Amino acid sequence: MRNKKQFVVGNIGIEMNYETSHPLAEVEAVIRSSVKKVGEFFSFSPTLPETIQLELMYSRQEYNNRLGRETEDWMSARVEDGVTIILDPDALEKYSSHSRQEFPAIVVHELTHIFTQAINKPTLDWVNEGLAQYVAGQDSGRPIDAEKLEYFLDHHFVANTGYNDFIAHSGYRISFLLVSHLVKQYGESVIARMISLPGDADCTVQIEKIFGTTIEGAKERLRQETK
Ligand SMILES: [Zn+2]
Repeated sequence: MRNKKQFVVGNIGIEMNYETSHPLAEVEAVIRSSVKKVGEFFSFSPTLPETIQLELMYSRQEYNNRLGRETEDWMSARVEDGVTIILDPDALEKYSSHSRQEFPAIVVHELTHIFTQAINKPTLDWVNEGLAQYVAGQDSGRPIDAEKLEYFLDHHFVANTGYNDFIAHSGYRISFLLVSHLVKQYGESVIARMISLPGDADCTVQIEKIFGTTIEGAKERLRQETK
């Protein structure tokens, strides 16, 4: 049987939709500490989400049915119409390529999307995904294929041109690198400027301002980072 549990962390209301036959204590503890952590990270922002809705899924099949489509093994959570649909830690272990130890990082990742969207929806895909990985500390450290980097820089750097194509060209890994690079160069105060990049327009001018150089100069800096 499904039930809802509501509680408050700081000024943010949390609503968890869960199955009563499954234990909730561990999940609730992770949610509480993650909302606190992400809330502290976004303390620079005057705009925060008022409520966060989470819906726990207990199998791949249930997850697919909820999203209305087949999903790949690595997919474990998704924000849909403001609701975070997420595999429970046991389901994560059993029905995904992740281990249950990754659950806290996955929660922080999705919460970062919610906080980012509260400030500016939509922003650029690389800002959205890069920041979520940065806050969650999810760096695979995998080398980046030079051809994919060039493709990414030509197609996904200054404007959004399709999420599946973004994923297919190392979008996650390159996003992490872009965000880390900017924070390393300019400190975390650059994050608010990044989030303000509009996801429904060409951001060439704003990106040049953030990087303090031309787009070509910014691309060259990324190439150096991947060497
Ligand atoms: Zn994400």
